[in-house]
Amino acid sequence: MPELPEAETIVKQLQKHLRGKKIASTVVMELQRADKHIETIKSIKVLKIWRRAKAIIIELGGKKFLLVRLGMTGHFHYASKGEGLGSDEKYAIVKFFLSDSSVLSYTDIRKFGSVRLLTIQQLQQKLAEFGPEPLGKEFTPDFFQKLLQRKKGNVKVALMDQNFIAGLGNIYAQEALYHASINPRRTIAMLKAPEIQLLHHAIQQVLTRAITHNGTTVENYVHIEGAGGFQRYLAVYGRTACPKHHPLKKIYLGGRGTYYCPTCQR
Ligand SMILES: [Zn+2]
Repeated sequence: MPELPEAETIVKQLQKHLRGKKIASTVVMELQRADKHIETIKSIKVLKIWRRAKAIIIELGGKKFLLVRLGMTGHFHYASKGEGLGSDEKYAIVKFFLSDSSVLSYTDIRKFGSVRLLTIQQLQQKLAEFGPEPLGKEFTPDFFQKLLQRKKGNVKVALMDQNFIAGLGNIYAQEALYHASINPRRTIAMLKAPEIQLLHHAIQQVLTRAITHNGTTVENYVHIEGAGGFQRYLAVYGRTACPKHHPLKKIYLGGRGTYYCPTCQR
């Protein structure tokens, strides 16, 4: 499932492919996952593309915004003139025909993702539900400590809560906890100040490194140009031993499989 680094990777590639172009016309193929009125996008310039949490925002001329949630298997496919989607055709949700005859398609096999056309007010309302960005300027160790003071319960479940912190999912929450030497069973109330500092550093480091490697491909995430590379650097997620060769344990927290090292993580 795409998390912050995967969405960030896709944003950078969309910026490269869409910069300075117009969307000439649009076809919605799957009405459950995309608004029909997206088809009103005709000859409109792409102004800006950015990310908030795991969501992608494409700003268009005329104060229109496309909000793309990748869900579990959402994927952008970019094709120059004449190149089709092949076997992915049956999963197409929306196709954007661009001014230079290239085509940007959004496909989704599992259909948990969505593409919505919103006004600025609607967009702000949707984005307001997300917690702070862990790579944002305001996300200092002090800020993180204060944020944690307002939250109760299990630390790993909290890290995955998008209203609490934006962008971390099951992979990067586990990886950050490993690098901070914190057992995922711990509650926030039991964390000591130096551990919070370590966790803050680990969150930022693991996300930054994953972005450098274009995200993690463990199941079906692919960015526009292929697979991510950070799976080679995972310490615990989906592994049987930690980097120090201790055997790992797998438990379930908030219904999600969670790997940790009982030796390294206390
Ligand atoms: Zn270990």
